[in-house]
Amino acid sequence: MAGEPQDDCLFCKIVAGDIPATIVRETPTTLAFRDINPQAPTHVLVIPRVHYPDAASLAAGDPDAVADVLREAGEVAAQEKVDGTGYRVVFNTGPGAGQTVFHAHAHVLGGRDLQRLV
Ligand code: 5GP
Repeated sequence: MAGEPQDDCLFCKIVAGDIPATIVRETPTTLAFRDINPQAPTHVLVIPRVHYPDAASLAAGDPDAVADVLREAGEVAAQEKVDGTGYRVVFNTGPGAGQTVFHAHAHVLGGRDLQRLV
């Protein structure tokens, strides 16, 4: 069922505590942890605890969770002290855009010069 934990989902396993992660923030609805393969000095993933495969399906099924993820992305940036210089929040959506883990997540990237994408 939409929103329910999935046995084969890596990030559901991190939410459950079955796979370790370096957690930087937690709320009742979200988890923020360091990316295992960081692409910037700050590279934190913010995920909803509920399982949806991508940001669009999360927005359709649980819009409050999207707001929670985005609020937490800002809190992570402040905690990591990259809010002053600027940071990027990215939702890769679909394999063609580089999504590899199909549990909605925001990448929070900062701490280096980030080239303009668009
Ligand atoms: P995507 O490519 O789906 O947008 O992002 C998935 C991210 O999850 C990648 O940046 C990848 O490095 C990260 N990742 C994959 N496996 C693990 C893991 O076991 N632990 C952590 N902390 N990050 C992971």
